[in-house]
Amino acid sequence: MPSERVVHVLAPRIERWRYRWFGRLVVMDGRDERTLPMTGTVAQWFQPGEQLLLTLADTANDPPGFQDYALWKPADNELLPVWPLWQEEATFERRSPLTESVVATYRLRFREAARETDFLAIVDLEQSHYASEHEYVARWTCPDDETTLDANTRPLCPRCHRPMRFTDLLGSTRASRFLVAELVDRAPYEPAIVGYVRIDPPLPIMHRRLPDGSLVRHVRRLVFPADWFEPTYWPEQIFRTLRERLPDVDPDELWAEAEERALGECDTRAARIARVVVHPDYRGEGLGHTLVTAALRWITDRRIPEMRRSKVIVETVAMMARYNPFFERAGFRYLWDTASGRPVLFRGLTPDADALIDRFIATDPVAQAHEGRLYRPALRSAEPLAGPIRVRHVRKGYRRSLDLDRLQPELRAVLRAFGVERRVVETVVLRHLDLDIEPGEIVALIGASGAGKTTLLRLLWGAASGQRGSRYRPDSGAIELPSNTVAAALLPGEVEPKWGREPLLQRIVAAIEDPIAAMELLNAVGLSDAVLWRASPHELSTGQRERARLALLLAERPNLVLLDEFAAHLDPALASRVARKIAMLLRRLHITALIATHRPEVVRALEPDRILVVGYGGIVQAETA
Ligand SMILES: [Zn+2]
Repeated sequence: MPSERVVHVLAPRIERWRYRWFGRLVVMDGRDERTLPMTGTVAQWFQPGEQLLLTLADTANDPPGFQDYALWKPADNELLPVWPLWQEEATFERRSPLTESVVATYRLRFREAARETDFLAIVDLEQSHYASEHEYVARWTCPDDETTLDANTRPLCPRCHRPMRFTDLLGSTRASRFLVAELVDRAPYEPAIVGYVRIDPPLPIMHRRLPDGSLVRHVRRLVFPADWFEPTYWPEQIFRTLRERLPDVDPDELWAEAEERALGECDTRAARIARVVVHPDYRGEGLGHTLVTAALRWITDRRIPEMRRSKVIVETVAMMARYNPFFERAGFRYLWDTASGRPVLFRGLTPDADALIDRFIATDPVAQAHEGRLYRPALRSAEPLAGPIRVRHVRKGYRRSLDLDRLQPELRAVLRAFGVERRVVETVVLRHLDLDIEPGEIVALIGASGAGKTTLLRLLWGAASGQRGSRYRPDSGAIELPSNTVAAALLPGEVEPKWGREPLLQRIVAAIEDPIAAMELLNAVGLSDAVLWRASPHELSTGQRERARLALLLAERPNLVLLDEFAAHLDPALASRVARKIAMLLRRLHITALIATHRPEVVRALEPDRILVVGYGGIVQAETA
């Protein structure tokens, strides 16, 4: 039987350089002092004299280890669990939009970041997102000589040359808490942490900017009870007062004092989602929504961040909510813009909070117009093909003359030894081909390389684009396209969208003339990463360039898309994800598509309406999806 007893907090014991992943809470247990190891992120919230309920495992060491005890805090006639940290496992299923069948399943573990490695993963995620040489994401400390340094990856100590330790994320506050999503049973090429959420207390001040430019001060107090958002974590205000009173004291000392006092004073009924970051390879698949939903449960169950009064509402100030609907899919409603024009969304956690949100949207003239919705998809549907594509009796062959005279004499001799003389080689690739493709159909072309997949795409591109070259014309027969055909093709090395040196996002916005639509496109091809949007072609990897070209292609708003091996440089998992997203987009926009690939996982992910096997001069239909 584990023993259960009431203990009193003596003091949290925190070293600032590692408080994110290590700290101690010293309690009085009867007449004995007891040290409980935990993260400083949790320990720092406890006040001397607070009563807690402690359960020690029978096997507990003295002092107990991280796993040896549980801690509760009495709050409003409830026992609020404090330790071990919150965690929850979930199965994340990606379903086919076509058949509703499960395409892929991964197991995720949501848990509060507690290990140094969790924060190293967060630094990596941040880095792929925002960091540049001029904006460092993390602060590091040398435990031996207390040197601190800001850097984007773990540095060596400039004094003693030993690896420095993680101290904090720049831009976060003492009050911030972090929830990570960990992949359980991951493949070797998959990351351990695929996303994280940062939770803060609500903002100290929020004014509202109206569309006419005027300001509504302290707008939250007009809509919600003031004590939902107050007193919040506001060390800047305490610091100002301290500074006026103690002008001779070292400001760093006063700031540390202000932070401690602010942690003690903070006691709100709200939480703020300050950051949501999903690993670049896992974006646009509903993971953002899943992560936010888990964070809402964490906030409710543990009263995150300050673990005091129960939580009734969550706020977020998020520019990204204009471009991505995951907050709204998690039940957030858009209420207003801040003084600086950033959208603010709220999510009620209780019926009372929901009622106040509903009332505001129903009665405020500006909110009545937007109805609490911020995100509006901007990618418009192409006008679908007006009729079928008809391929009639098409024959296509290639003639190549093998001319030994142009070879070096030694090679000529070798070939002659094999009996090869100058001659004309003729290959018939397509022989008497008949094919109808209906508007909106997604057709996968499979077959051995050289079997004619590219030739068929080339002929269709020739018919659509009016290309005069003989390789784009059938030898005989005809290809009829509907009169409203707007074709776009990606035949690598041959027909590709033009892209000079300008940043990717700029190039796509120039084509599609709408930044929101441009971001939807980039998300669809799996390039939902701000760093990549700023990149020029030469800064991208081959696989990234491949995906960028797909986005450029779709930015031309085609209603017929011809793709040849678009995922050749992507690993199997990424190729499937991109194929699936592309197919979803093609269907949503009613685009007809012929997609040649030799990769079975790409065909599966596309879920084509038809699979055509091209080879031996003809085509057979493999199966119908
Ligand atoms: Zn050092």
